[in-house]
Amino acid sequence: MNIRMSRRRRIYEGKAKVLFEGPEPGTLVQYFKDDATAGNGAKHGTITGKGVLNNRISEYLMTKLGEIGVPTHFMRRLNMREQLIRKVEIIPIEVVVRNIVAGSLAKRLGIPEGTVLPRSIVEFYYKRDDLNDPMVSDEHITAFGWASPHEIDEIMSLSLRVNDYLSGLFLGIGLRLVDFKLEFGRLWENDELHIVLADEISPDNCRLWDIRTNEKMDKDRFRQDLGRVEEAYQEVAKRLGIMPETANAPDNSEKL
Ligand code: UDP
Repeated sequence: MNIRMSRRRRIYEGKAKVLFEGPEPGTLVQYFKDDATAGNGAKHGTITGKGVLNNRISEYLMTKLGEIGVPTHFMRRLNMREQLIRKVEIIPIEVVVRNIVAGSLAKRLGIPEGTVLPRSIVEFYYKRDDLNDPMVSDEHITAFGWASPHEIDEIMSLSLRVNDYLSGLFLGIGLRLVDFKLEFGRLWENDELHIVLADEISPDNCRLWDIRTNEKMDKDRFRQDLGRVEEAYQEVAKRLGIMPETANAPDNSEKL
């Protein structure tokens, strides 16, 4: 198994993950790296054990979302750093949902970080690293054919459901879900095309603030050089009740 897995064909390598050909047609293996980047690759680093933690955290959240009827690409976790996922056609849009002002919104509109939004805001960004992922509206998305109006409706409603569910889940463990980014894909099932949640949900793409102390428990600790980055990811996993035994496992060969 290990030998076969290590010879798998590499389909895609991103900043924090690698996708390999899966064991069956229509599947992929998603491998979580410890690499971290910020500012669209301007800042590089390693967060020891991040891949292991994100694999676990994303497994947990995707499974929970699946249980409430949100379709996802997640099938099962394979080992410390890998999960089996359904191969989908990724829609080239990053969907950001915001509950509290932070990051680029604070900067762009000059609104103080921490301002509670009167209602959740959904934003779309075109996935193009060479253009710095520019913000786009649904008009651009439909005009350029990146997604149909029907798909945008589906993406909006799934994103808001994910936000409602995750906000409550994190609140229950003393964390405020400030904002997060989602990606979606198209999946053919029984001759029908479905929109499913793809990528990952982890402290790499969520902002999580401790309710009591307002401490940042996410990738902003890396982006802003706040220190104790690994500890923050570990704390999120611990509060979710999914702290793995050895978070700094070195490779993909370990089994469950
Ligand atoms: N985000 C992400 N990938 C990106 C851009 C943003 O996962 O390429 C996440 C980020 O972690 C945050 C949310 O989306 O939880 C909103 O990010 P923002 O637009 O404020 O941009 P940033 O401040 O990260 O540049």
